[in-house]
Amino acid sequence: MSPTQSAYGYIAGQKQIQQFDNIPIPTPTGKQVLLKVEAAGLCLSDPHVLIAGPIESKPPMTNATKFVMGHEIAGSICAVGNDLKNHHLYKKGGRFALQIAKACGECEACRQGDDSNCTVTSQAYGLNEDGGFQQYLLVSNLRTLLPIPDGVSYEVAAVTTDSVLTPFHAIQKVKHLIQPTTKILVQGCGGLGLNAVQILKNYNCYIVATDVKPQLKDLALEYGANEYHTDLSKSSHEPMSFDLIFDFVGIQPTFDTSEKYIKVR
Ligand SMILES: [Zn+2]
Ligand SMILES: [Zn+2]
Repeated sequence: MSPTQSAYGYIAGQKQIQQFDNIPIPTPTGKQVLLKVEAAGLCLSDPHVLIAGPIESKPPMTNATKFVMGHEIAGSICAVGNDLKNHHLYKKGGRFALQIAKACGECEACRQGDDSNCTVTSQAYGLNEDGGFQQYLLVSNLRTLLPIPDGVSYEVAAVTTDSVLTPFHAIQKVKHLIQPTTKILVQGCGGLGLNAVQILKNYNCYIVATDVKPQLKDLALEYGANEYHTDLSKSSHEPMSFDLIFDFVGIQPTFDTSEKYIKVR
């Protein structure tokens, strides 16, 4: 009998994550790699998938009805296909994180580094195709394998692909506006917001962090926020007084707060 594994994932119509048992462990062929999943992060997008469904697929792919979830993935190569025997990079024991979007790498968006808006495919690990909530994952798109530097753990590498990269990307877009005198509001101190605070700290700007949870105060301050509030309207900050605002919550009350507190240029 061939070896099997367990996994957790999505089945259309079910609002809870489902356990899959006795899934055959695939054998890589050609230019495929079998990754042993060493770490897989949990994300708010996971309940979003369960509640609202997977990311829509582009034709000729049809929308997914069943797949293994988990999109923040890091692992080690445990087997490679025949075409990769003796490859200098994709070899047994190699440590890699996975870029979530299985983008084509060739369309205009991809060539501009905008993989998440690939015009050819919207397939993504754990969001509409098999991801990391299993022991072994077959990787066919080698472009999605990102080598993990020495000294970086699998756990850190896994969350870097999403909850670090997302705020990093947002901050990169406006980094030319950030100076030590810049006052910045970070709304939401979950995975994204706390990583944003740590990245922004490198710019020596003034960081005000907010979240509805009072228990996140110590962590936000430790990571570099200058102030922490559960209700900005009860602070001394005036409306239209922030140079930049990052919203890592994305609900109507935080939109309203951004609109109220951003400086009018
Ligand atoms: Zn995510
Ligand atoms: Zn593309």
